[in-house]
Amino acid sequence: MSEIAPKSVFYCGVCTFPPEYCEFGLSFKRCKDWLKENQEDLFDKLYSDDALANATSSLSIEKQEQISKELEKKQAKEEKKLERELQLKLSSKVTIKRIERNKRKHVIAISGLEVFNIDMKKLAKTFASKFATGASVTKNAEKKDEIVVQGDVSDEAKTYIEKLLEEKGLNEVKVEQIDEKKKKKPAPTVIGQQH
Ligand SMILES: [Zn+2]
Repeated sequence: MSEIAPKSVFYCGVCTFPPEYCEFGLSFKRCKDWLKENQEDLFDKLYSDDALANATSSLSIEKQEQISKELEKKQAKEEKKLERELQLKLSSKVTIKRIERNKRKHVIAISGLEVFNIDMKKLAKTFASKFATGASVTKNAEKKDEIVVQGDVSDEAKTYIEKLLEEKGLNEVKVEQIDEKKKKKPAPTVIGQQH
């Protein structure tokens, strides 16, 4: 049997602990998936049937089972929470509204980003320098933050946001473009709806 100590410490890309400790964290299932993909040797060493059979502990079997049951419950809860968050993200959409200010001037208003943990102030700054224009974060009518960019840059902004979402693994999220013409007459109020 040869024992070679690893030269550099290797950390889990999910929970940032050394992989030996992943099982005590709440992201154990994702940690395992990650390790299998990134360090298969270590994965086999830690989680193969042999490795699990050889694992010994000074704790009583009963105590071990109790601990692992509690941990499993917590891990399952955490998985569910993450799943819910992901579903919320995937069912959300980003809207880029192109608003006509006058014949030649447009602004775009981007809403729906808050769900995706995107730093809107930073993104507004990026747009300002990328498009050499003015951009700011303001509250819209629904009291939610939106990025308003001066200029007719709806397509460019869409491409950029889609790339950002893709980097977060959220390629399925829709980025919708809306064209808001200058209002002429208020639309007539429809009372009741015919089917
Ligand atoms: Zn981990």
